[in-house]
Amino acid sequence: MAAKGSLKPHDARRIMQDDDPVLNQVAQRYAVGVTESVLDTIRHPGDPVALQYMPQAAELLTLPEESADPIGDAAHSPVPGIVHRYPDRVLFMPVNICAVYCRFCFRRENVGPGRKMLKPAETGAALDYIRVRPEISEVILSGGDPLMLGAERIEKLLKDIQSIPHVQTLRIHTRIPVADPPRMTDALCGALRTEKPLYILLHVNHAQELSPAVEAVLKQLRAAGCILLSQSVLLRGVNDNADALETLLRRLTTLGVKPYYIHHPDMAPGTSHFRLPLKEGIALMRSLRGKLSGLCLPAYMLDIPGGHGKVPADSAFVKENPDGTYMVTDFQGNTHLYS
Ligand SMILES: *Cc1c(COP(=O)(O)O)cnc(C)c1O
Ligand code: SF4
Repeated sequence: MAAKGSLKPHDARRIMQDDDPVLNQVAQRYAVGVTESVLDTIRHPGDPVALQYMPQAAELLTLPEESADPIGDAAHSPVPGIVHRYPDRVLFMPVNICAVYCRFCFRRENVGPGRKMLKPAETGAALDYIRVRPEISEVILSGGDPLMLGAERIEKLLKDIQSIPHVQTLRIHTRIPVADPPRMTDALCGALRTEKPLYILLHVNHAQELSPAVEAVLKQLRAAGCILLSQSVLLRGVNDNADALETLLRRLTTLGVKPYYIHHPDMAPGTSHFRLPLKEGIALMRSLRGKLSGLCLPAYMLDIPGGHGKVPADSAFVKENPDGTYMVTDFQGNTHLYS
């Protein structure tokens, strides 16, 4: 397989030894990348931020139950750049590049530097797909990281999407405000001033990621009228304890960010070292209930492998079997075995 990302000594500084052959093997397989801002928040190798970005030998282990397409996007992609799983909303992925590359990424087989952006004709076809389907009321820009487009292109894209009368809500899934705050220039924040409500879903997993520079960007986004929500991934060694979660969720809420989802880790290849049993995640999230304001509490979500969508893990959608596996009911009422 061709190299997806080269390890720049600059990227590797403080988190790994540049010449480690095993880690370079990981970097041949999966994209590696961090920003100066992220490096500045790392206190020591193996801390909750370093673990999210530092390649590990464990990534070379792929389990049989892991999949290159863990949440089954491909089967629901009618045209390039669109994933249409739920009737009223679509994912729109304009780019496959990110500012950083997370070791646990559920789209790790599809993202990386030098990967592609939608061509103008493909963007046009994706917009046409939405335009002729009045049932689509929400468009979710995802990726990759859509803010990699930069101010001008994102402004144009948001304009084009907003011009479709039946699209009422816009959403952007991004890690850039947290992982690369200098990229959030006045021009880019200004481009996010929209007529129709724009929800920004920030990907953040630990309070240590929320530096003063990040706080300043969040203020700017609020001033631009964006509605701020967060999504996190529950990760072994990063945030899989009540204290870390409580600190993160309280901090986000005081910064004007409503925690929306915390995801159970997906079956992405080479990520088993990050996964914890569903039972443990459920117990952890239950321990926060009542202790924290409802404003602080995200829904704990399981994305059913195979493309059946997300369901709250701590709910009647997920029932434990006597043998420790789970019976999961999707939003259409079909059941699936999860182990
Ligand atoms: C996750 C996801 C959404 C958004 O789901 P919400 O529960 O509304 O946040 C939409 N479309 C696809 C294909 C998704 O995977
Ligand atoms: S920013 Fe998102 S899409 Fe990019 S590597 Fe991280 S988790 Fe994956």
